[in-house]
Amino acid sequence: MSHYAYVIAGGGTAAGYAARELAARGAGPGEVALVSEEPVLPYHRYPLSKAYLTQRVPLDVFLVNRPHFYEDTGIETRLRAKISELDTEGSALRLENADTVTYEKLLIATGSKPLKFRCAGADSQRLYYLRDIADAQAIRTQAETSETAVLIGGGFTGLELSASLCRMGVKVTLVCLENRLMPFLFTERMNEFFLRLYEERGVTMALSQTVSRFADAAGGGIEVQLESGEGLKVDFAVAGIGVEPAVDIVEGTPIHVDDGIYVNEFLETSVPGVWAAGDVANCPDLIYGRRRRGEHMQNARDQGICASRNMTGLRQEYRGVPYYFSEFFEYKWEFWGDVLDCDEVLYVGDLEHGTFSTWWICQGLVRAAFVMGRVDEERTRARLCVQEQREAPQDIRQRAHTDVETHAGT
Ligand SMILES: Cc1cc2nc3c(=O)[nH]c(=O)nc-3n(C[C@H](O)[C@H](O)[C@H](O)COP(=O)(O)OP(=O)(O)OC[C@H]3O[C@@H](n4cnc5c(N)ncnc54)[C@H](O)[C@@H]3O)c2cc1C
Repeated sequence: MSHYAYVIAGGGTAAGYAARELAARGAGPGEVALVSEEPVLPYHRYPLSKAYLTQRVPLDVFLVNRPHFYEDTGIETRLRAKISELDTEGSALRLENADTVTYEKLLIATGSKPLKFRCAGADSQRLYYLRDIADAQAIRTQAETSETAVLIGGGFTGLELSASLCRMGVKVTLVCLENRLMPFLFTERMNEFFLRLYEERGVTMALSQTVSRFADAAGGGIEVQLESGEGLKVDFAVAGIGVEPAVDIVEGTPIHVDDGIYVNEFLETSVPGVWAAGDVANCPDLIYGRRRRGEHMQNARDQGICASRNMTGLRQEYRGVPYYFSEFFEYKWEFWGDVLDCDEVLYVGDLEHGTFSTWWICQGLVRAAFVMGRVDEERTRARLCVQEQREAPQDIRQRAHTDVETHAGT
């Protein structure tokens, strides 16, 4: 059994930044342990669906902290150490390898895990999910010897991976439950641009379709059977159908769970001495006035930092505008805010050629913005307008397309 002042459960983005912040705030050698089931040090996941596949960028380029950071600070990393049980009364984590780690303060940063198909054939070796480096490695190896693939899901994973696989020379069919891409974010006009882009790049779109079952195909591939009756025979399939918070370790504890670990604005759970951050934390959003569970890199980083500060005695509220970035083919874009309840949408720029910004307005105030291929000045203004919930700037209104539309955000 080992005892630490601070234990971080999990070894991803939030954990890596939390470790860094604890060290910066004076936690000494031997006071912090990071416990992760993964075999590698905390790394950023965002290259896994992009540069890791298409450019073979090695893992050490996207580690959150350089390996010597842990040696220099005396932070202990327990890798390949799956936590099987949390005992909040005894302030202890039991590991699958029968070891026990006790703590004075605990940060839960166990992230999220992919939702999986449960239909017939879902155990096929040719059906992949993408969450960690091992998944990405397996998909890359499979793609390198494949000609065809089905991607299931029209969200981030489906679209990023379709683009990457296309770039690797794989012929992709994208199966989407909805009749458009990223329906939680993209407006009709944005959807039109991206649909056209994917089709021009050779992706076959199967919109408004669901998968009914999978079957191993003769010759080693997989058959993806759609509800419509159509069967798609391909070399492999990848499902990106959403994630769920990784809350297994808090089951049976008094820690309150409701779509993730329920935390207050200081990222404290319902049990004193235990904080949660990142994809696993369901947190009050003080800017938009509702609860949310972020599933993005910056949310994980900023919450990891904020929680560590509070663990070391500060009392800092978590306050952050949702932010995410992505890239589909060579089109890199960013988004700030929340489109819910918006009553007006402005477009600036060229929607035909993919250099535009979208501004979501609610009662005159900018609530969200999407920026792709625009000058830095416009990007900065969009970010500041959302962060400070300013009125839409007059010149943006003047330059905006005249076909301002009413859009509820879904
Ligand atoms: C392929 C991919 C691409 C992405 N691209 C983008 C992007 O372009 N932009 C963006 O903003 N966001 C992106 N994201 C999302 C972003 O990476 C996540 O929001 C972020 O990683 C969440 O950080 P986290 O620390 O909360 O969880 P994670 O990074 O998932 O870390 C959780 C850690 O906890 C460990 N763990 C879980 N349970 C246990 C247990 N019982 N015992 C021990 N360890 C455990 C896990 O193994 C993992 O190491 C992407 C995610 C993926 C998977």
